[in-house]
Parts: sequence; C-alpha cells; structure tokens
Amino acid sequence: MTADKGIEELRRRLGEIADLHAAEHVLQWDQEVNMPPKGAEARGQQLATVSSLAHRLFTAPEIGDLLNTLRDAGDLSDDDRLLVEETLYDYNRAIRLPESFVHRFAGATSAAYEAWTRARKESRFAAFLPHLETLVQLLREKAELLGHEGSPYNALLEDYERGMTAEQLRPLFAELAAAQSALVARIMDSPRQPDVSWLHQNWFKKPQWELCLRVAADLGYDLEAGRQDESAHPFTTTFDLRDVRITTRIDRNDLFSALMSSIHECGHALYEQGFQEKDRRTPLADAPSLGMHESQSRMWENIIGRSRPFWEHYTPVLRKYFPGQLDRQTPEDLYRAVNHVSPSLIRVEADECTYNLHVILRFELEVDMIEGRLAPADLPEAWNAKMKRYLGVDVPDDARGCLQDIHWSHGAMGYFPTYTLGNLYAAQLFDKIIEELSGLWDDVERGRFGTLLDWLRENIHAHGRRKHAAALVADVTGREPEAGPYLRYLTAKYSDLYGLN
Ligand code: ZN
Repeated sequence: MTADKGIEELRRRLGEIADLHAAEHVLQWDQEVNMPPKGAEARGQQLATVSSLAHRLFTAPEIGDLLNTLRDAGDLSDDDRLLVEETLYDYNRAIRLPESFVHRFAGATSAAYEAWTRARKESRFAAFLPHLETLVQLLREKAELLGHEGSPYNALLEDYERGMTAEQLRPLFAELAAAQSALVARIMDSPRQPDVSWLHQNWFKKPQWELCLRVAADLGYDLEAGRQDESAHPFTTTFDLRDVRITTRIDRNDLFSALMSSIHECGHALYEQGFQEKDRRTPLADAPSLGMHESQSRMWENIIGRSRPFWEHYTPVLRKYFPGQLDRQTPEDLYRAVNHVSPSLIRVEADECTYNLHVILRFELEVDMIEGRLAPADLPEAWNAKMKRYLGVDVPDDARGCLQDIHWSHGAMGYFPTYTLGNLYAAQLFDKIIEELSGLWDDVERGRFGTLLDWLRENIHAHGRRKHAAALVADVTGREPEAGPYLRYLTAKYSDLYGLN
C-alpha cells in the first residue's frame, strides 16, 4: 500500500470511530437533558454497546499494523505525520490495558458510584471506604500496566494532562497554596467587605435564561452551530465542530450562578467550535489536555466575566432583563458582588480566590493515596486537617467533606489538578494577550469580544492537539507554565477589591 492510500484508509477508520464517539455524546447529552428516569437502564446498555464498539474498532490489530507501517513511511506531509504519531500514542495506550482489567475496573467503578451516592446522602464514609480501597488498588495496578517514570500517579495524570508529572506539580502547587491561603486570610481580616444583601431577591428564570443566551452570543458562541439546554450539572459536549452544545442550571435565588456557568461552558464551546475543518473526525480535533481546555473556560469566566469593564458594560443590560430589581446598584456593586470572597466547604461553589485551595488539597491527598503514604481509611481526618490549614474552615461532616465530589467514585484520580492548571495557563496566556491587544479592556467595556476570540482562535484553538499544553504555553508566552502570572493577577485584583496594601 502506498503512503497516500494508507493515510486515506487511516482517515476512513478514524472517521468511523469519531462518529461512534459522537453518537455516544448524543446519548449522554440526551440522558442529562431529556431522558425520562425510567430510560436509565436501557440507556446504560446503549452507551456500553456504542463505546465498546468504538474501543474494538480502535484497538483492532489492523489499525496497529497500519499505524506502524505509516510511521516508517518517509513521504508523509507534516500534518499526516502528526496524525499518525498522535493516533499511535492513543493506540499504544489503549492496548496496554487488557480487556480483563478494563472489565474489572468498570465493575468496580459502577459499584463504587452506587455506594458513593448512598454514602454521601447519609454522610457515612464507612459505606464508601471498601470501594475506595479497591479503586486505589486498581489504579495502582493501572499505573503499572500503563508504565511510568517517577511517581505511579504520573501514569494516571497522563490521561488528563499529558506530559505533566506529580514531581512538577508538587512545588508549583505548594507555592500557590501558601500564597493563596495567606491572601485569603488577609481578605477575611479586611474591614472592606462588600454589601451583598441586595442579592437576596427573586431572580426570575426566564430573564436569566435569555440573559445567558444573549451573553453567549455576544462572546461569539455560534448558536447556529450550538444550543443551550438545562441540566442538573452544567457541561459542554461536542458532536462535531458545527454542533457544540452547552447546558446551564438556573437558580432563582442566585443572580450569578447560571450566568457565570454559561460563560464558563461557552469558553469550552468556543474552543471546540474553533478547531480546523481539516481535523474533523480525527483525534487532532481536540484540546491537548483538560488543563488547556479549562484555561479557555476560566479565562472567559474569571478574567473577562469577573472584570470591572465587563460589569461596566453589562450592568445596564441586566437592568433591562430584571426591571426594577437593580435600580440602586452601580456597576461597581455588581463587580464587587460577583467577586465576593468567602471560604466555604464545597469546591463547586467556591469563589475565584479560594478555588485552587480546594483543588490542591485533593491533589495532595490523591497522590498520597496512590503512592501509598495515606491509607484510604485515614482520608476524612487528613481532608479535614487540610481544610482547616488552607481555608480556615471546620468540616462538619463527610458529605460536605471528602464525600462531596463524584470524581473518585468514578476512579478518576489525576483529574483535579487540571482545574488549577487551567487557571495558571489562562493567566499566563492573558499576560501575553494584553501585551498584544492593548485596547482589549476598552473593547470589553463596549461589549466587544471579537479581538480576543480571534486571538484565541489563531494562537490556541486552531492548533487542536498539535502541541502539548506546556509546549503551547511556552511557544506563546516564551516561558514554561508557572505560578507567577496567576498569583500576580489574583493579588492585584483582590488587593484592589478589599483595600489591602
Ligand atoms: Zn470547565
């Protein structure tokens, strides 16, 4: 077979697999958005069938032969060579886990998820503990099957943040934790706390819904190639770059929760809508890592959506959506309210200033469990001690402590750090952006986001997964990922808000 014919054959096979994954995403989206409760059992079977079909097609020996032949072919274009290398990377990782292991792991996670749901409801860690012990054991086995240098945690991290290691994250996160927790303590001591009592009003659902759509469209989200629906947990899903969907959740008691979560999901969706046509139905139409994906959602949500110029523009807009409810509030009042810092127990409700601390404690605990320094039985005690140390809060029960997140029950360890890496990448990239787009804040104040989106399209989105996250950051900013830009951003913003000097 000539190299040309080989590439054609590879693209044909990858296209079929991409279609199956898209079908899986449609089934999942429907499950979260539309499905009646009694459909759950059949949906579980349908999803299992489609995903194992995709896995079987992808791990077929013919794909391996084709990829290995193409890897050695001399006359490939740069893009084709990259497609072969990236697919080979995925393939080699996929075949390292034997069917029997995948089967055991799936059984253990589905039992763990069931147990976790009950354990959280009853706040009874003991009910989850045996499952957590099994999962940690299986994850250590998985790390050995996949292979790793340094910590076994690295093999797990690789699934979410390729190329990153526990050895790199430890000092980076330790620096962040120390600085952020000191900043939070100073904020709590500041006499300049915002008055947020006016937020206690009934914010009707319909205007909230319409406002979310209006802002999404303003940011550049193409609603002819996407849509917004409601779900219990907001998410973004992609069937194709011309069909990228977001969901949100509306709370009548909370003016900001739906809006800020829509902006966040929009950041993810703008990324997915920005991949290149030629990468459709191939593994290249993807972000290089979850951290890079999160850098986009967090840049739009926090750096832009929680900025003073943003609220200069949108305060009059909000007054139209909620007539009579915001007459006495200034843009500064809304800006201060949306950035209100308050150390709390729950990660998903955390403000920008405390968020990383929630993540870092989870990272430290999961590394300790995987490396065997922390027995799962001692998790609640270790969790509560870290919450006290980093956030100064006392954890009243495990439901609001170590049982609050779904991740571990799914056997996902190595996922949490990507949230914080997203914050770091976003701030580091944004330093560069503001250097190149000096008029950006004036644009934001006028509700114009096109220059920012164009910059992101060209410098981030269009690359798909052609470069690893750290390399992409380094290419754009001239430096490896670091904590400095984020800490400078956070300290400047909150010192101003809370009158710290
Ligand atoms: Zn996100």
